[in-house]
Amino acid sequence: MNYLSTRGHPDRKRFCEILLEGLAPDGGLYLPETYPQVDTATLAKWRALPYAELAFEILSLYIDDIPPSDLKAICAKTYTAEVFGTDEIVPLRELEDGVYLEALSNGPTLAFKDMAMQLLGNLFEYELARRGSELNILGATSGDTGSAAEYAMRGKKGVRVFMTSPDGRMSPFQQAQMFSLQDENIHNIAITGVFDDCQDIVKAVSNDLGFKRKYRIGTVNSINWARLLAQVVYYFAGYFQATASNDKPVSFTVPSGNFGNVCAGHVARMMGLPIQTLVVATNENDVLDEFFRTGVYRVRAAVDTHETSSPSMDISKASNFERFVFDLVGRDPARLRQLFVDDLGLQGSFDLSADPAFKQAAGRFGFRSGRSTHADRLATIRDTEKRFATLIDPHTADGLKAAREQITPGVPMVVLETALPIKFAATLVEALGEEPARPKKFEGIEALPKRVVKLPADAEAVKAYIAENCD
Ligand SMILES: *Cc1c(COP(=O)(O)O)cnc(C)c1O
Repeated sequence: MNYLSTRGHPDRKRFCEILLEGLAPDGGLYLPETYPQVDTATLAKWRALPYAELAFEILSLYIDDIPPSDLKAICAKTYTAEVFGTDEIVPLRELEDGVYLEALSNGPTLAFKDMAMQLLGNLFEYELARRGSELNILGATSGDTGSAAEYAMRGKKGVRVFMTSPDGRMSPFQQAQMFSLQDENIHNIAITGVFDDCQDIVKAVSNDLGFKRKYRIGTVNSINWARLLAQVVYYFAGYFQATASNDKPVSFTVPSGNFGNVCAGHVARMMGLPIQTLVVATNENDVLDEFFRTGVYRVRAAVDTHETSSPSMDISKASNFERFVFDLVGRDPARLRQLFVDDLGLQGSFDLSADPAFKQAAGRFGFRSGRSTHADRLATIRDTEKRFATLIDPHTADGLKAAREQITPGVPMVVLETALPIKFAATLVEALGEEPARPKKFEGIEALPKRVVKLPADAEAVKAYIAENCD
């Protein structure tokens, strides 16, 4: 399998070459040259497989530069009941007639990002050992991504994590999750500033090419193809649990921010998994809902990006969206560049409303969308608790609301549960007047010793800290 850039760079790469990379050299995103097709005989064979073996089968179609026995061992080591809480790994439960929740949030940090990040940690360790190389991951987080990365990389050989976060701005639970890690290769850096300051620091350090090369700086952001690929697996696993045979369509609703999760659903659908509809659920930051309703993709300015009670979906632009648009415009890199380089670069938006391709978003590609607000979120959390005695987190609530607006009778609707409610306790208290129960392993973590340094919002200070901690 070879990978290409959405923006038309002539090079073709193998999986392990792009594993440790971010953007392609021309600023595009990597995609496989073709989507491997899965026929009904294969689906029938896969239906009975445990999650780790299913992951191996799917990954094998995209990874041909890791020996199968090694890849199999990596999958088996990653997707265990010990790490993810159940043998099913992503258990499905029916909420009401035809509406299901697929639990993706029982990994170490209680959010779906663990599904991909845990695999990435093991792939990184494997590939770095094979190359005899090292990697220093530099990131900025306001919560979910940073903690998922730290729990995936802790104790891994050849990898260090330097994670910046805005001092005092994460929830006490998220702070405790990250800062209580005592592993030597994990470095928490609290920046005196806001999340944008952290992101600016990461950009400034990465733009210092000399420093970047010398200290082997890398990232684990959501545009990484390996993360997206790992997420494809749970669409198959959800499908098999929601159906008894492989001729039945299923729809999925995905609480969305950077479009990584739902893009994995798109890939699964392109491979031939019988997905009828993919519903993109957004919060008040509705760039994606606007696109799927109108054909206009309008990136928001920082001042127009709302801080909401489903904060992991607070985005101004969706960094994986370019992958889907590439397919939408018939994989034409010139057209893609016109939209993402010329139009977005010059005017901050592009307009496909009059383009025949736009009709295909809903038609050939099965996309729908929905939007919810803080009031909707509280109402959905309350209603779900009252009628089904089930607590859901604010992001999953956004999904459930959008899902109900797009149901086709007779087609199971699977809502992806992207976090556990305890991670967003304040909103649960606002909705229900009580704190959600806390999994045992997180009892009392706020009281554990914290491993964190405080630095000013200054890239030079962060560089000096990295340099000091790199031998
Ligand atoms: C990251 C995240 C999302 C958004 O996922 P994308 O892949 O960025 O679309 C939704 N919910 C939660 C809880 C998350 O952590």
